[in-house]
Amino acid sequence: MKRLMLIACLAAPFLPVNVQAQQNRVEISITPVTGPVYMLQGGGGNIGVVADPLGVLMIDAMETPSSDQIRAAIKSLPGGERVRILVDTHWHSDHTDGNKSLGLGAAIIAHENVRPLMGGEQDQPGRKAGAGPAAALPNVTYSDRLTVYAGGEEIRLVHYSHAHTDGDTVVFLDKSKVVHMGDMFFNGRFPFLDVANGGDIDNWVRQIDAILAVLPADSKIIPGHGPLASTADLKAFRQMLYDSAEIVRKEMKEGKTLEQVKAAGLPERFAPWSKGFMSRAGLPQPGETGRQVTPQALTAPSPPPELDSATTTRRR
Ligand SMILES: [Zn+2]
Repeated sequence: MKRLMLIACLAAPFLPVNVQAQQNRVEISITPVTGPVYMLQGGGGNIGVVADPLGVLMIDAMETPSSDQIRAAIKSLPGGERVRILVDTHWHSDHTDGNKSLGLGAAIIAHENVRPLMGGEQDQPGRKAGAGPAAALPNVTYSDRLTVYAGGEEIRLVHYSHAHTDGDTVVFLDKSKVVHMGDMFFNGRFPFLDVANGGDIDNWVRQIDAILAVLPADSKIIPGHGPLASTADLKAFRQMLYDSAEIVRKEMKEGKTLEQVKAAGLPERFAPWSKGFMSRAGLPQPGETGRQVTPQALTAPSPPPELDSATTTRRR
């Protein structure tokens, strides 16, 4: 059901505003993670919330039509009447569109590469839009790392370059052993890779390795999409990225064209990853047999020009 609702959400840019608002009314679920930390799901990328009597710290903001439901969901938490700090894990609109509502009056923090992207023309598949309003842009930016304090937690924001985009922030809550990875982690599903804005599959794998090296084994991980995760889930995602890129890289070395690579697809063992919104990327429907079609995001790095342009995606 959630998948259907999410697909409706993604289709929304083509609809009139009133219909769009109606169709975007998705159910927002709130999951206690540990201590003051909660996870919200349902209207875009997963949100992390750190309750604090002075006003919550929120990590990502989903899409604007869900903002009222998000406010209602966090109202019962300490400080839930006010968003004091909002962290944007990266620039994609399914994580930042809600800045327009939830970020008003808040410190909106993001990596320094995020603000120019959100402040420029929005060129995303199926949707072009003007620059985001000034009030919704990050008003605090950082280059490598930044520490903020909320909910009795020392909250570390760390930039990992050239992964899902080149503006990714991972949020570490060491005391609670929780981390929000934004779209550097799609739990149990194929990701998008924003090649046009610095995303790089090889470096993404390396950056996940760097994160795994410092995470306690019993950490709880809030992914950008998918259910609350463990370090074992993150390792599985990392391996899927690596293995699928290796397969495509080998085919490219053999001189195959993009069309041939897509037609060959990935082995059947990758089928469980083809769920969520990436299931729309030309993958076989349930009941179809044969190999899975390679999602555009998973083509290998440094491709020849004809592959490079085809692998570019700007959203998620
Ligand atoms: Zn994204």
